[in-house]
Amino acid sequence: MPAADLILMADTIHAAGPPAGAIAIRGGVITAVGDRSDARDWRGPGTEVIDLGPATITAGLVDGHFHPVMGIGMTRGADLTRVRTLDDLVVALKRAGESVARGGWVEGWGLDPNVFGDVPVTHAPIVEALGPDVLGAIQMFDAHSAIASPRALELAGIGGPRGFASGASVVCDPAGRPTGHLLEMEAAALLDEVMPADEPSERRDRLRALLRSMAASGLTGANAMDFEDDSAALFDALEDEGELPIRWRCAPFVNPGVDADGLAAVVDLQRAGGRRWRVDGAKFMIDGVVDVGTAWLDEPDSHGECTSSLWPDPSAYRAAVRQLASHSVPIVTHAIGDAGIRYVLDTYSSVPRVSPVPYRMEHLETMPSDLVARFAALDVTASMQPNHCSHFTRADGQDNWSKRLGETRAGRAYRIRDVRDGGGRVALGSDWPIAPYDPRGIIASARLRRPAGSPDVEPIVPSQALTARMALDGYTSAAAAAAGLADRAGRIAPGFQADLSAFTLDPLTAGPDEFAESPVPLTVVDGTVTHRA
Ligand SMILES: [Zn+2]
Repeated sequence: MPAADLILMADTIHAAGPPAGAIAIRGGVITAVGDRSDARDWRGPGTEVIDLGPATITAGLVDGHFHPVMGIGMTRGADLTRVRTLDDLVVALKRAGESVARGGWVEGWGLDPNVFGDVPVTHAPIVEALGPDVLGAIQMFDAHSAIASPRALELAGIGGPRGFASGASVVCDPAGRPTGHLLEMEAAALLDEVMPADEPSERRDRLRALLRSMAASGLTGANAMDFEDDSAALFDALEDEGELPIRWRCAPFVNPGVDADGLAAVVDLQRAGGRRWRVDGAKFMIDGVVDVGTAWLDEPDSHGECTSSLWPDPSAYRAAVRQLASHSVPIVTHAIGDAGIRYVLDTYSSVPRVSPVPYRMEHLETMPSDLVARFAALDVTASMQPNHCSHFTRADGQDNWSKRLGETRAGRAYRIRDVRDGGGRVALGSDWPIAPYDPRGIIASARLRRPAGSPDVEPIVPSQALTARMALDGYTSAAAAAAGLADRAGRIAPGFQADLSAFTLDPLTAGPDEFAESPVPLTVVDGTVTHRA
């Protein structure tokens, strides 16, 4: 056997075969797995050996759902993720205003709509904090709505209700005046046209920093659920500097109203890529989100909302899926409400799949049991984000999401365990910047059904908790199978891709709260070190 480029040793290695203590890597591929004494035979004059002592090595963790480039644009200005009351919001906005030059935009992101309680979501807190003449914009945490100040609305030419190709809308008061709340991306995008854009170098710096901290959290890859105008340029620019610390599979958005040229462009894009990034899929959204009434439910929510698809004619979605699937494009669809999930399952079961990559569906926030069973039967990947449940809903049902759904449907919240027990493939992820991406915390959330490090918080539908093994699979073997890579990634075995994560604590035996705090001594992608503590 030719000498290894790199040999990794650790007391615990979760390999596909028998217990192991050493891994040999050559040319980005695992060439041998054995115990420490085997490593002597793998060594050559140029071999680097890293012994991590008592640490644990797992297959590299892959985030199933991430918004890298959309996210660096969305997370501008004040971080509002910790704001819990309207008073806090006013204080945070005042503080944000202090660092912005007169006449500049005051921006914030990550706001939880529960902050408004029973008060309608409007620009009132911006006006209270900064006066009526400020240019202000807040991105809500779920990226499905934004709040604009009166002056910002005026600048963007938003003076009343208007129609959109998707189910987006400008929320107006009874007199027809916009309240500042812009529902769904098509409406929020009206602001982008008048807001100052970041310099390309600024965006590159932010993406570079993001990728590095992802590697430092133990991630080796991620599925990008967006492909913005400058995504290719940004990834290419970072690859010109060296190797990306994270592998990316990108799925460009396909919006309602797409025409034949738009679909052809998505097919063409499938050729785009670099050394560690590539376009491999298309992302649809059959509905929006429960929190602002744009999810698609069988029965209306408690506000009488959540009654329709984001596609005014859902059969146009089905036709677009059919068209792309016939060109072997892997299909991804965001589906949150029971009616949306059913429509997508019906679509997948009726559209022949050419691609070896299974159809996949994102989020699946509430569904009855007959839908749960269909994921395994139809070989559809369930891509779920445990932090959505643990961070934005409450066991007492007093959060906005639960109140809108009511007890029965909130009781069917994020049925990760049921999908898995039914034989379905579950890929785990974050949906960053909608929720934090650290996989250690997400694995803990999946096991606890509450945020890591918060033992006082009551778990949400605890019967849906995953075991440690299931949670780790969701980031490794299931993630690889979801990408059609089951035969070459997601496991520690000879011939498999040398993407590896190392933790000071063993994710399979440490308590979830403790594991969430575990240091990450080493991360390896394609046989090269991307992070070393
Ligand atoms: Zn998303």
